[in-house]
Amino acid sequence: MRGSGLLLLCVAAVLFSLWANGSAFAAEAELVHRYKVGDFEVIQLSEGESDRDPSLFVGATPELVEKYVPTGTYVTATNTFLIRTPDRLVLVDTGYGRELFKNLKAVGVKPEQIDTVLLTHMHGDHIGGLLRDGKPAFPKAAVRLARQELEYWTSEEIMKASPPDRQDRFKSSIEVTKSYGDAVQTFEPGALGSEIPELLPGIRPIAAFGHTPGHTLFMVESGGERLLIWGDLTHAMAIQMPAPEVAMTYDSDPQMAVASRLAVLKYVAENKIPIAGMHVPLPALGTVTTAADGVGYTFTPTAKR
Ligand SMILES: [Zn+2]
Repeated sequence: MRGSGLLLLCVAAVLFSLWANGSAFAAEAELVHRYKVGDFEVIQLSEGESDRDPSLFVGATPELVEKYVPTGTYVTATNTFLIRTPDRLVLVDTGYGRELFKNLKAVGVKPEQIDTVLLTHMHGDHIGGLLRDGKPAFPKAAVRLARQELEYWTSEEIMKASPPDRQDRFKSSIEVTKSYGDAVQTFEPGALGSEIPELLPGIRPIAAFGHTPGHTLFMVESGGERLLIWGDLTHAMAIQMPAPEVAMTYDSDPQMAVASRLAVLKYVAENKIPIAGMHVPLPALGTVTTAADGVGYTFTPTAKR
């Protein structure tokens, strides 16, 4: 009796470990995708996907909504990207911070190994992972962002003049900035298509203002290959690819956001540059081509390699 009880316990232990390893693998397969850009590895770390409704659109006609969001919802995601270069570990945005640390652990990276956090902008779903229990989650990292972005979101004056329901965004930006102190450094993003100096080896910041006053994209280049990490250039791929003129309620300047989106889509389609986005559904990376009807664009997700 004793022997068979022990055997049963062993079998149960083996089954449990198989189940646990299996589910850990499934979790990584779902939330982590790895890509090569020349000598760099770009790892997408996802905080998952959710369904949203068209009430967040600005400038979408009922016909467009009916055509591109016929079910009444579209899929969006929250992603961050880890760039592993031969001598650096760079994190682009930090999401809400809900899954980030679990995801980093899954790819064998400790927060203190990150040497730079690049921010596309200071919305909560991009800076949420910067603090843990009120302290810098990346103690050895420089936090680098566009000067225009930092100036706007840390301005007490602009905060006070903003609607009360928007003031929290400023408060969290101010808190993050104070916590990181001298580690926060600004840069001047360059104009799309111009000669832009490198911010880090193989990484150049590109201005795409409108979604926020200093919204920045990062061009990653290694070994003749490129990838544009485009931050929040889109939030609703289902409608903003075929109809890029649709903006979102959370764009600071919807008109400018549309102009930036149109310019970037044209540029990446013409130059065949793959893109990755913070709100692009899994696998969050792919190519943009001009739509067959000549109006708008089509996104084709890239297979992993
Ligand atoms: Zn945003």
